Amino acid sequence: MTKTVYLDYAATTPVDPRVAEVMSRYLTLDGIFANPASRSHMLGWQAEQAVEGARRQVADLIGADPREIVWTSGATEADNLALIGFMRANRARGRHLVTSTVEHKAVVDTAHALEAEGFEVTWLAPGSDGRIAPEQLQDAMRPDTVLVSLMAVNNELGCIHDLGAMAGIAHAGGAVFHVDAAQAVGRIPLDVERLGIDLMSLSGHKVYGPKGIGALYVKRSPDIRLEALIHGGGHERGMRSGTLATHQIVGMGEAFALAAAEGEADQARITGLRDRLLDGLAGCRGVHRNTDISVSVPNILNLAFEGIDGESLLMALRDIALSTGSACNSASVEPSYVLKAIGVPRPLALASLRFSFGRFTTEADIDQTLHALTHALEGLRRQAI
Ligand SMILES: *Cc1c(COP(=O)(O)O)cnc(C)c1O
Repeated sequence: MTKTVYLDYAATTPVDPRVAEVMSRYLTLDGIFANPASRSHMLGWQAEQAVEGARRQVADLIGADPREIVWTSGATEADNLALIGFMRANRARGRHLVTSTVEHKAVVDTAHALEAEGFEVTWLAPGSDGRIAPEQLQDAMRPDTVLVSLMAVNNELGCIHDLGAMAGIAHAGGAVFHVDAAQAVGRIPLDVERLGIDLMSLSGHKVYGPKGIGALYVKRSPDIRLEALIHGGGHERGMRSGTLATHQIVGMGEAFALAAAEGEADQARITGLRDRLLDGLAGCRGVHRNTDISVSVPNILNLAFEGIDGESLLMALRDIALSTGSACNSASVEPSYVLKAIGVPRPLALASLRFSFGRFTTEADIDQTLHALTHALEGLRRQAI
């Protein structure tokens, strides 16, 4: 039996064993299990200390103050809180939001919900590399624009936005700048001060932490007002109520500390693995790159296989865990909206695969993938004749 090679790190990462070890100390009677909001005993204080330590670990990676970190259930909730919470709290100042058509569904669907509530959204369309040009944002700004939301790294293509330029344009127009950085943490340097980011969504499980935990960075000065979406107890400065999930939080903190220490080295090694895959496919005809590797993180590579049916290819590659576009869309046979948006023709979009690599990917994994892939392509092309 060959073991399954996991090349779907952009959908989720396994928890780093060092993170799991830390988390296990915050669950049972002999661990630190108490409610971090319990002020009447030592056990509660210890839990609170653990939460605050993790808040600092997360803040440190992005150049923030720990008081600017609001815990959420993930980046989806952070995106909802940023967009809905901000637009509702600032509706007297303006009703216009600018975002893009290639955002994650957590932003796209939230912006649609805001449209239904009477807010106005301008949807920027990307170039063939998946990126929005700063001039496009400039042209979309209006006197009533209060929020700009753009992702740091696209989850299907891996392309990186020029966040500093976008922040400058948003601020010059009097708007606040939100960034979905779920795919960027541990992959590219992220300093909220230097880049001028006001709100930033983070996730634990894209960076070797647990699922079900995330955070929203909320810049403190000048103060940014957000209307809470979840009420009940006033936790997290009133922005997000609910008992804090200590074990998830310490896991995310440890994961972010590891990303700070090892992210750069991980990415350097992963660049070699990505290039090994590309080199191995150099002899195969009909392989197109949807990812423009000159503007993208090395850990995501989206490829199209001309003349091949994507579902049949995925079937033939059952020992390789991969995604056709984003995981959230795997149930539908519609081509990915991101590939559509960058102008990939429908048959090619349906024959596209996203390879995403991570901390535990090995050269042997790449070689097994190359072997399976070249085999499958030959087989499917022979059938097609
Ligand atoms: C995974 C992802 C999300 C959602 O994060 P969750 O923590 O799973 O809710 C949002 N945005 C991007 C870009 C992502 O990759």
